[in-house]
Amino acid sequence: MDVTYRITQKRDINGAFPGTKSIELAQRRSAAVATGVSSALPVYVADADGGIIVDVDGNSIIDLGSGIAVTSVGASNEKVAAAVAAQAARFTHTCFMVTPYEGYIELAEKLAEISPGTHAKKAVFFNSGSEAVENAIKVARVATGRQAVVAFDHAYHGRTNLTMGLTAKAAPYKRGFGPLASEIYRMPMSYPYREENPNITGREAAERAILAMEKQIGGDQIAAIIIEPIQGEGGFIVPAEGFLPRLSEWATEQGIVFVADEVQAGFCRAGAWFASEIEGIVPDIITVAKGIAGGMPLSGIVGRAELLDSVHPGGLGGTYGGNPVAVAAALETIKFMEEQDLAGRAREIEEQFFTRMRALANEVSIIGDIRGRGAMVAIELVKAGSTEPDAETTKKIAADALAAGVLILTCGTYGNVIRLLPPLVIGDELLAEAFEVLEGAIRANA
Ligand SMILES: *Cc1c(COP(=O)(O)O)cnc(C)c1O
Repeated sequence: MDVTYRITQKRDINGAFPGTKSIELAQRRSAAVATGVSSALPVYVADADGGIIVDVDGNSIIDLGSGIAVTSVGASNEKVAAAVAAQAARFTHTCFMVTPYEGYIELAEKLAEISPGTHAKKAVFFNSGSEAVENAIKVARVATGRQAVVAFDHAYHGRTNLTMGLTAKAAPYKRGFGPLASEIYRMPMSYPYREENPNITGREAAERAILAMEKQIGGDQIAAIIIEPIQGEGGFIVPAEGFLPRLSEWATEQGIVFVADEVQAGFCRAGAWFASEIEGIVPDIITVAKGIAGGMPLSGIVGRAELLDSVHPGGLGGTYGGNPVAVAAALETIKFMEEQDLAGRAREIEEQFFTRMRALANEVSIIGDIRGRGAMVAIELVKAGSTEPDAETTKKIAADALAAGVLILTCGTYGNVIRLLPPLVIGDELLAEAFEVLEGAIRANA
């Protein structure tokens, strides 16, 4: 990796944290911004680059969140910023449904090239991950003439009406927001750390879900099975080997559209263009967003041409979908990922994480599981010597790390998972320092 940084890559907490400017902004915020949108950190951002976020009071914190797996190429990647500026100077928007432009086509071609499978593919673009998921389901329903959609335990697919129905966790995502969409069925996931039978294979876990689908719905009634190849918000759950291939095989037998939601795991995050490659599956449709455009809002679906083309002209779209500035950012982001081999960089981060955390797990008894792939890795925390989830300690560790200047996010159905999503352009030194801080916070709370 050959990356130059605009901001000094150094952690630096000077004085009160949050400082006076952040506290002032928090007061203005509480008067003006709806409480329904909450923030993980009490500090407000002034600048960000590489692995560093600088707040309005001049504190520099190490970023292990990437704005939730978005800024993989950095939050102010020079090349992406230049592409955005150049496109914005020409035209910011015309609407692809009114007067189309080349970038959209080029990005569709690129997605077809880098996504798994050699079949003919097509793509459509939207603005958010949720919208991509919604559209994958629209396509699957039209293509199959069926209605039922299957999602899994611990799944996260978004916050719009259909996608919050697909999302597993009630609080905070669904509580009070009903009625939710109908014809959604939830199936048991493969969650190796929390299986009742610890010896169950991935294939057996798939058969368990298949039996439930046959009994509760009927294979010939299902339009789509949607699953994250590595679950994100649900706890960075990597299913047992063989789980996804068996599900995908059964879906094909039953004429069901297999949708891989790669909104979080895609675009080098898991150590390949797409996590599906690592899991040995070729999905019919892949949803993409988060890391695709270096921070610009863009999402899409890429999938079998005949599936996507089953929708009548005008059936898919949206005013801003595939916005030219966001598309320019995506093209540059993908180019940067290729040139810098950021998938390889994600695998390096994975190795450093596992080496360090395995050693730590031998030392403390509150680490239940360490898992993940690439730069999408996590630590599941439990009450010492048990498998009982410990959300409180998890929160405390994240808070302690933050107080020391390292941004760490938590996740998981039980709120007991520390997840690391560093920008892929973070330097080794800064990453090692962040690991040290995290290890110290875990030890202090063990
Ligand atoms: C974040 C996420 C979504 C939703 O994306 P938004 O852009 O927030 O709408 C959907 N699926 C997965 C797997 C995600 O991680």
